[in-house]
Amino acid sequence: MSPVEREKYSRQILFPPLGETGQEMLLRARVVIVGCGALGSFQAAALARAGVGEIVVVDRDYVEPSNLQRQWLFDEADAAEGLPKAVAAVRKLAASNASVRTHAVVADLTPGNAEELLLPAGVILDGTDNFETRYLINDVAVKRGVPWIYGAAVGSHGVTMPILPGRSACLACIWPQPPSGAQPTCDTAGILNAVAALVGAWQVGEALKILAGRLEAVEPRLVSVDIWKNTFRSIGTSRSDPQCAACGRRQFSHLEGEGRPRITLCGRNSVQIHERARPLDLGPLRETLGRLGEVRANPYALRFFCSPFEMTVFPDGRAIIKGTTDIGVARSLYARYVGC
Ligand SMILES: [Zn+2]
Repeated sequence: MSPVEREKYSRQILFPPLGETGQEMLLRARVVIVGCGALGSFQAAALARAGVGEIVVVDRDYVEPSNLQRQWLFDEADAAEGLPKAVAAVRKLAASNASVRTHAVVADLTPGNAEELLLPAGVILDGTDNFETRYLINDVAVKRGVPWIYGAAVGSHGVTMPILPGRSACLACIWPQPPSGAQPTCDTAGILNAVAALVGAWQVGEALKILAGRLEAVEPRLVSVDIWKNTFRSIGTSRSDPQCAACGRRQFSHLEGEGRPRITLCGRNSVQIHERARPLDLGPLRETLGRLGEVRANPYALRFFCSPFEMTVFPDGRAIIKGTTDIGVARSLYARYVGC
């Protein structure tokens, strides 16, 4: 460790359970953060400041004004520019700690790319907003023996749990199946930024222990808090279920899953289309659509306003169509303006 690093992280090194050895391990560590919303942007900011050597941010979305109330890394300029969250995030991380190596991955985590995007990692942090992606992370983490930290927050309620493959219950031990039916989301039930910070901070605390090699300090527990009702519950999860499909029987159906829908509802009056499996050149598309309506583009995404809809197209061929939850409408707009 250089004298500059020793000074920069001095207050963390002074904390005895970490010390200089723990800090050295953080400096050599690599983490992957999936989803850079309220939880993910807090995790990324905190881990960069703590000196984690390499941070990968995977996110499929772009910054919007309604994110700023709780998504700590972003500002109004990012929303005005419609920057992908992963790109905006790594810019902010570099400004807070230039010695951290960062990678922005603007993509949807899918069974086809999950192992490539999530590995290698000392720990994977859940910043997603959906169970489909969490079960995919769980499959990769259990299959490859990588710790991950589940987290979720909505309204004033938050939940988090560290998952240490081989040492504690996995997500599928606790809930063998993803919850069925519509779940409350930040877009339907709202969220207080304080609970997102609380869950994100808890996840960061567990990540620091794991990355610094202090696994004995990680007590696997499902922690549930409500900052409005002033409740806190914590349930031990040290025992895994031998019948669990993932960690017991090692059947990774979410990772092998062929059945993943090519169109998903994003929850906030928008539909994501990811049917197109080939990259898209945004330059010519910008010219074509510019003749039909307002277009705002940056190297990472193109936004086309076709009132009452708004379509954001990414270079990987994905599009998020805002203003509808009707898959047929979204698909026809995509076909009309982007092509099949
Ligand atoms: Zn399990």
